[in-house]
Amino acid sequence: MKTFKSTCCYCGVGCGVVVTKEGNGQLSLEGDKEHPSNMGMLCSKGMNLHYTVMDQSDRLLYPQMRLNRSMPMQRVNWDDALERTAAVFKTLIKKFGPDSVAFYVSGQCLTEEYYLVNKLIKGFIGSNNIDTNSRLCMSSAVVGYKLALGEDSVPVCYDDIEAADVIFVTGANPAWCHPIIWRRVEAHKAANPDVKIICVDPRKTDTSRSSDLHLQIAPGTDIVLNNAIGRILIEKNYIDQQFIAAHTDGFPDFQEKVMQRTVAEAAELCGIDAADIYTAAEWIGQCKGFLSFWTMGLNQSVIGVNKNLSLINLHLITGKIGKPGNGPFSLTGQPNAMGGRETGGLANILPGHREVINASHRAEMEEFWNTPVKIANKPGLTATEMFEALADDKLKAIWIINTNPLVSMPDINVAEAALNKSRFVVVQDVSNRADTVKFADVVLPAAAWLEKEGTMTNAERRITHLPKAIDAPGEALPDAEIIWRFAAKMGFGDSFDYKNTSEVYDEYTACTAGTTIDVTGVNYQLLKTNRSIQWPLTTSFENNKTPITGTKRLFTDHQFHTKNKRAQIHAVPDENHSEPTSETYPLVLTNGRIRDQWHTMTKTGRVAKLNQHTPQPFLQLHPEDAEHRNIREGQLAVIQSRRGEVRVKVNITEDVRPGLCFLPMHWGKILGSNLARANNLTNNLVDPKSKEPDFKFSAVQVSLY
Ligand code: SF4
Repeated sequence: MKTFKSTCCYCGVGCGVVVTKEGNGQLSLEGDKEHPSNMGMLCSKGMNLHYTVMDQSDRLLYPQMRLNRSMPMQRVNWDDALERTAAVFKTLIKKFGPDSVAFYVSGQCLTEEYYLVNKLIKGFIGSNNIDTNSRLCMSSAVVGYKLALGEDSVPVCYDDIEAADVIFVTGANPAWCHPIIWRRVEAHKAANPDVKIICVDPRKTDTSRSSDLHLQIAPGTDIVLNNAIGRILIEKNYIDQQFIAAHTDGFPDFQEKVMQRTVAEAAELCGIDAADIYTAAEWIGQCKGFLSFWTMGLNQSVIGVNKNLSLINLHLITGKIGKPGNGPFSLTGQPNAMGGRETGGLANILPGHREVINASHRAEMEEFWNTPVKIANKPGLTATEMFEALADDKLKAIWIINTNPLVSMPDINVAEAALNKSRFVVVQDVSNRADTVKFADVVLPAAAWLEKEGTMTNAERRITHLPKAIDAPGEALPDAEIIWRFAAKMGFGDSFDYKNTSEVYDEYTACTAGTTIDVTGVNYQLLKTNRSIQWPLTTSFENNKTPITGTKRLFTDHQFHTKNKRAQIHAVPDENHSEPTSETYPLVLTNGRIRDQWHTMTKTGRVAKLNQHTPQPFLQLHPEDAEHRNIREGQLAVIQSRRGEVRVKVNITEDVRPGLCFLPMHWGKILGSNLARANNLTNNLVDPKSKEPDFKFSAVQVSLY
């Protein structure tokens, strides 16, 4: 019997787990009481995580390829698969330039994998065409943090929960999607009944039901609400004028903006009582600790960056940031979205939170990597742009790693047509359930969680090491090894000559020297000894000496990462720019997660216990909207948008506002049909700054099937 300490690979909470491997190879799992992120607790998904690697029935086992898509896939060896892929990439790059190829990766990737793909395409191929499914998830928060605080840095930590007396949850349902964080919030509230929880959500959820105040706003009116709260904070003099004067810019414009709309007007637009907005503002104004949490309700919006800024503004005008219990906390959806951001895993950034548009940042990485080409000086294609470019034949080849875009991309039929039309598709994945496999020219089997070694960073900047505990089945390889083997086939072997991922990690940490996320010198041994470390470091160390301490809370000196060290308050307009509803499409559709499923169900969908909670997709519809359409509970309905349709059973409930309906995001194919796929309906509108899609607002019609 052997035990291994790892991290749950579902959500950004980053719970520590202890895996026990029995002599007969069976695995069992429990929460790690020593890991500060969860202190032994696990949610239903985490508790059943080991089943996802024990069931190998859907695993990709061998490299496969075909010379054209009318041919069946043939099993090949790794050298043949990678040599052919390298030959195609070289030909396309020579003929059409480096921007003719792209990598589309995942927040499931380990930090080392993210780092290597970035190094390869940005430093050696010479294109910035790498993006990640995190673009669909938290890129609006990245831009919001940068514009307000100067850098993409989550300034708070989980310990701030117990120090807060107002917890403001907006556009999020952590009771289901970040359950271990929510258990801490509930425990804090139980021990301190005066703590106030405010939930802002167009739906009633388990989070809203355990809140003191639910602001059930109309979809798309988040900025209207936040600006109204800002107005009241100013009028009631709850603002911190000293902090504003000493540490921020932009307050006069903000004040002018929020005064343009009365609280009564705001309440009407939001569809809630003005008295509730006053109550929220009073609680925020009077509290000592104001902690805000948000996820997709703010991020996945055509005005997602401005929604983020409007929330961060409330912290800046009250000076409630950089102190225990205070600050804006973007909850990352994926386990290593943060690690991806650290290593440059978006089309516009470089490792160490450097920017591709910054000449000195490019020069630093060119020197560090000793690149044979100049790093391109403009951002590469983002997630949705990649699929548009494939459809237009501007992008010739795409390599998709550990993500399932044919369920997760907006306006999925466009993405599917693009892949169908594309010249060359490589799919690197664990599971043959990935919907992309049927469009692939080359399929590369990847090792899963527990089958490979690496690191991840969770939502509070905490890095944890994940050991290899079991062998991958068949010929599946760790993703990092696939990339360094491919780089060698491309002729870059000298710069990708790694023996293990520990060497990759050491190289990555070295490149953070002098940046605001400096983890220089952190290595696997230190991570194992310390169990986890938060960045940036606050102690120096030598020769693996412990303990190491990281930074729990940023900006405690109120020196922000902007050029003049002052945070920027933004006067943001409050109009929504989502697609309009119409007579033909009069309802707003929003989507989201259910409690026991994860993303496109390639993992959780295989665990019988998890499928019991909600076995089938459904549409939540308000009783008034159902009656108007003569639809009864449990009947099959067709939901249509300007792009496609979905057919699922209806759940009639007052959990949604009149005029709003809700569809879970998880289901792809059921019994061979794509008709439960939420993204048949969503659209390709994106926020102009973050390029994050407007998943939460689609105009639809619902009728009886
Ligand atoms: Fe895993 Fe997230 Fe659940 Fe923790 S809260 S066990 S990280 S899914």
